[in-house]
Amino acid sequence: MHIRNPLVMMPGPTPVVRSIQDALGRETISYNDPRLVADFGRLIDDLVKLWRCDGIAFVVAGSGTMAMEMGIVNVAAKNDKVLVCSNGYFGDRFVDICSRKGFETEVLRAPRWGESVSIAEIAAKLDEKKFDVLGVTHIETSTGVEFPLRELTEMMRASHPDTLVVVDGVASMGGVEFYMDWGVDVMLSCSQKCFGTAPGLGLLWASEKALEKRHAISQITETYIDFEKWVPVMKEPMKYWGTPAVNMIWSLCEAVRIIKEEGLENRFRRHREYASAIRRSLSAMGFSIGAGEKVASPTVTVSLYPNNRGLDDAAFRAAVYGEGAHIAGCLGDFAGKGFRIGHMGNIDDNIIVSLIASIERACVKCGYDIEPGVGLAALQRALIER
Ligand SMILES: *Cc1c(COP(=O)(O)O)cnc(C)c1O
Repeated sequence: MHIRNPLVMMPGPTPVVRSIQDALGRETISYNDPRLVADFGRLIDDLVKLWRCDGIAFVVAGSGTMAMEMGIVNVAAKNDKVLVCSNGYFGDRFVDICSRKGFETEVLRAPRWGESVSIAEIAAKLDEKKFDVLGVTHIETSTGVEFPLRELTEMMRASHPDTLVVVDGVASMGGVEFYMDWGVDVMLSCSQKCFGTAPGLGLLWASEKALEKRHAISQITETYIDFEKWVPVMKEPMKYWGTPAVNMIWSLCEAVRIIKEEGLENRFRRHREYASAIRRSLSAMGFSIGAGEKVASPTVTVSLYPNNRGLDDAAFRAAVYGEGAHIAGCLGDFAGKGFRIGHMGNIDDNIIVSLIASIERACVKCGYDIEPGVGLAALQRALIER
């Protein structure tokens, strides 16, 4: 029996702090009660300003996958040419969505799991053929790879300013450096990753250019996720399209308040420091990191089992759960070969130390005979030196 729930160290959902839980537990009022309208309006305003968006932000009930679909269908017309860069499972989900919609979709894939499609490859592809939309995954949660988004936007602004850029920022927004004025047209995310609230909200940021493109496509076949249906609501939240998720909106208000209190730049730095400390600690315990050194992400880490040490994947993760931390299995090429840790959102030193301690005890219990404390020592050193 657990006296407390295991730590939620998944790449979503992530730990939800007390004040956000309290927002979820408030007595529900109507979406058009002036108090909710005011809170919702301030939330949209904060999202637009914090991420320097010249267009509008959308907060719509649904998961990250809904936000992906909403992000792409509003800026790509039927028969538009769409280029998707896939570094793994979620990149492939983007490809699936685009292919089903009837876009003329082409894909660039990373040479192998744990690496990223390069800017040079994308530039070469775009020089050879004109694409209306480019889709990329900022942090590929299946491999723990961070896509070089800053460099991409510099290249796109310089050489391909007419191609709209749509970014899946589900595992990065609120944890990793990014601002809309880098030159992204649609950024999308959701509530249960770096924002640290419960699952339930899709979040999107659309540039002025993206909104113009949506307007130019006279009608899209989707209704619930149509930008044009939601723009009036986001501008004046007393208006109605689909009933907003009142308590989830309050929880996001609190999540954004916490982000503002910490400061975005501090939050970005904290995520990079924790990721690097966790990687050092896992390496000290004999695990290898799934993502290449240059592309290892600040929010999620794939940790691969050492060869020939007889660690059984399901048994190991069950043991870690028993020791008090819930981690995830791997997907695709990495399935069965390691585990994934989400280290994003509202986490602190105590959580990271407990996570590594749980992994260490699980190693010993599963017969992988490391000296208890070896991972913690590396972690502590990294936390002290940061
Ligand atoms: C989690 C995740 C998704 C899917 O989000 P859901 O809320 O599970 O639909 C999409 N893309 C990335 C990069 C993710 O990490």
